[in-house]
Amino acid sequence: MADDHAAKAISSYGGGLNDTPNIDRIAHEGVRFDHCYVTNSICTPSRAAILTGTYNHVNSVKTLDTHMDNDLPHVAKHLQTGGYQTAIVGKWHLGEGQLHEPKGFNFWSVLPGQGEYFDPFMIEMGTEREEFGYVTDIITSKCINWLNSRDESKPFFLMCHHKAPHREWEPHPKNRNLFGEDIKVPETFDDNYKNRAKAAAEAKMRIKDDMKYADLGLAQPEGGSEVGERVRPEMSHRKIPNPDDVSKLRLIDKDSGEVFTFKSKEELGQFKYQRYIKRYLRTIASIDESVGVLLDYLDDNELTENTLVIYTSDQGFFLGEHGWFDKRFMYEESLQMPFLARFPKKIAGAQISKNLACNVDFAPTFLDAAQLKIPTYMQGHSLMPIMNGKVPKNWQSVVYHRYWMHRDPDHNAYSHYGIRDQRYKLIYWYNEGYDLPGTNHGGEDREWELFDCKEDPLELFNVYSDPKYQDIVQNMKDMLTRKMAEIGDEPEH
Ligand code: CA
Repeated sequence: MADDHAAKAISSYGGGLNDTPNIDRIAHEGVRFDHCYVTNSICTPSRAAILTGTYNHVNSVKTLDTHMDNDLPHVAKHLQTGGYQTAIVGKWHLGEGQLHEPKGFNFWSVLPGQGEYFDPFMIEMGTEREEFGYVTDIITSKCINWLNSRDESKPFFLMCHHKAPHREWEPHPKNRNLFGEDIKVPETFDDNYKNRAKAAAEAKMRIKDDMKYADLGLAQPEGGSEVGERVRPEMSHRKIPNPDDVSKLRLIDKDSGEVFTFKSKEELGQFKYQRYIKRYLRTIASIDESVGVLLDYLDDNELTENTLVIYTSDQGFFLGEHGWFDKRFMYEESLQMPFLARFPKKIAGAQISKNLACNVDFAPTFLDAAQLKIPTYMQGHSLMPIMNGKVPKNWQSVVYHRYWMHRDPDHNAYSHYGIRDQRYKLIYWYNEGYDLPGTNHGGEDREWELFDCKEDPLELFNVYSDPKYQDIVQNMKDMLTRKMAEIGDEPEH
C-alpha cells in the first residue's frame, strides 16, 4: 500500500502520466479493479477500515485525530490466530503509545505520524530509532529482511505500507531529474466551481493558492506567517504567494539554488502544477522500484504461485483536477482507490473488474484468501469470488462514503456523506461535525449534489435540481437510506 497514490498515476490504469512497469505486472498477471472506492477519503480512517473491515462510525476512527484503539479485533490478529506470521512495515498513522501502537503483528516497524522522507525515525517493536537513507528504500529492505528471517514452515501476512507519495513529495535524489518534459495539465485545472455545491469553491486545496514552499521543494523565506493565515505551532510552513503582480516574486529551488521568476500569474500557476506533479510522480518511481524488488523476491523464492499480492493506496488523490491537490472529497479522483491483485494459483491474469468494491472489503478478502473464517462483525465482503469470475448474487450495488472533518483549518473541506452506484453519485453536504476551539461552524447552507458520471465524468454539473433527473434523485435517496440503515450509520437531519 502507498499513501495518497491516485489510480491515474499507475500506468495500467491508463492515466498517461508515468510508467510503473512493476506495479503493472500485478495488473497484467492478475486483476485490476476499476470501481474500488474509499469509505472516508483520508489516511487514518481508511487504514482503520482496511484493518478492521468496518466503517468508521463502527470502529470510531472518524478523523485524523481519533486514533484506533489497538484492542479492536482486526485482520492481522485473526491471521495470527490462524497460524500466520504477521508483520507491518512503514506508515501506520493509527496512533502511538500503548493504546494505539500496532498489535497483532509478530514484527512491526512503523513511522511515527506521517514519517520523514530522509533519515526517518521508526518505532520498531516499541523502540524508536533513526534509520539512515530514503524512506521507500528503508521500508522495502526491512520487508525483505523480515521475509528472510521468517519461519518458512508457516504462511505469512506482510503489510508493506509506503509513506510516499504523501506530501511533501520528496523524491530520491537519483530521481530529481525524471520527467524533463512538461506533464499534461488536466482539463479542469482552471475550474470556476460553478454549478456545484459551495464546498468545491471553498476548499483550500488549490495548487495555485494553497501550496507551501516545502511542498514544491522551494527555499522558504524567513519571517512570520502570511496575512490572514491561521497559525498553529506545528504548522510553520508558509504558503507560496499567488499575487496579481508577480514581477517581484523570486522562487528558489532548495536543492539546486536555481531561481525562478514569472511574467504572469498564469505562468506561476503552471509552474506550481509542474513542480507538484513531477515531484509526486518522482516519488512513485521509487515505489514502483520497491514493488519490483518484492515481486523478484517472491520469484526467487518460489513463492509467486501461492501468494496473494495486492497493490493499493489508502485513498485516491487530486492531481490538478478542479485545480486541486489532496483528497477528502467524494469527487471521483479522491474517492477511487487503485486496487490490483495477483494470485496465480487462484486468480486468472489480465482481468479487469467493473464491480463495486471498497476498503471495508479488504480484510474479509485477506481472510478468505487464507481460507480462514470471516468474523460476523466485519461489514465488508470478500472480493475473492469476483476475482475468480464468479460475482455473487446481490453483490453491492452502491458504495458509501462519509467525511467528518468539517472545515479543518488546513483544507477547509466540508463534511458530507453519500453513495455512488455504477453510474450516479449522490452527495449530501451536511456541513457540520468538526469544530476546533475558537471556531463556530455548523449546519450552514446544507446542499445536495447528483452527478451523472456517464454523461459528466468530470463532475462539473450538479443535476440534483434538473427536472430530468428527479426519478434518479428519489431512487438514489432511497438507496442512501437503505445503505445507511444496513451499515448502521445515522443520517443528519
Ligand atoms: Ca493518505
